[in-house]
Amino acid sequence: MSVPERARAGAGARLGVDVGGTSVRAALVDPTGVLVSPLVDAPRSPDLISQLSSIYHDLTDSQSVVVAGAGLAVPGSVDPATGRIGSVPTAPALQGLDPADIRLGPGLPIRVCNDANAATIGEWTHGAAVGARHVVGLFAGTGVGCGVVIDGVLLTGSRGLAAEAGHLVVDPDGPPCPCGGQGCLEQFASGTAVARWYGEATGRSVPGAAEVARAARGGDPTARQAFERAARLLGVAAAGLANLFNPEVIVLGGGMAAAWDLLEADLTRAVARHTMPLTARGLRLAPGRLGRAAGVVGAAASAPAD
Ligand SMILES: [Zn+2]
Repeated sequence: MSVPERARAGAGARLGVDVGGTSVRAALVDPTGVLVSPLVDAPRSPDLISQLSSIYHDLTDSQSVVVAGAGLAVPGSVDPATGRIGSVPTAPALQGLDPADIRLGPGLPIRVCNDANAATIGEWTHGAAVGARHVVGLFAGTGVGCGVVIDGVLLTGSRGLAAEAGHLVVDPDGPPCPCGGQGCLEQFASGTAVARWYGEATGRSVPGAAEVARAARGGDPTARQAFERAARLLGVAAAGLANLFNPEVIVLGGGMAAAWDLLEADLTRAVARHTMPLTARGLRLAPGRLGRAAGVVGAAASAPAD
């Protein structure tokens, strides 16, 4: 494709950036949610702002598209009134920053949002929940994040901390959680928790849930049990969210969604068991469609466009 053709293909493109605990993902995304650049997925550098600026320049130099704005998803809170970043425990360099202080390119306007909210917006605008007005996004990976859209509006809460479903207590006597509580959902249903539980049950150390999923598909009963347990508690939490918010669709994304084949039956059963019958009517459970690009697509969709 020639440069002018690429420029036309990327008209109105926005930069979407998803800052994770250990990695950074970014891409240029057009208004229809299509990536018009490769998806950058890099380990996070200690000098995060310089890294983001380099990524922006690399992407715009190589793709020759005009970028209208940037959306930055962060693993923390964003003040809904000011747009300023609040607490970001895993990226202190971002803490307290105003988006206007983050200069990735000349005159590039930036909007910041929470990472799970960005992933929910991604799946809502361009993924598994397109067309719905009432959506719950659950993203289980290193932790468990959540976003809620009610009547077409993202729920933020008073300080940008709404919908922290990873910290719903599903067992008051359960293991401690970095949030200061104990027995939170993410201590049972994150990929980290699945790998830890499997390791404790078998005495075999595994790096992550993907290895446990491989063992489960190979017939390992303990590995299957690890996913059954996670699916059941995800289902209990999803049912609670359904009873609270009456969504049309609950999307499960994040790394754990790659094990949808292992989760679906127990998750569906738990949601059916714990959701009020009228609320369950018409409720759809769906795996995310955007995979690891969900946060990037949602961040780009949230970016200022002019
Ligand atoms: Zn917690």
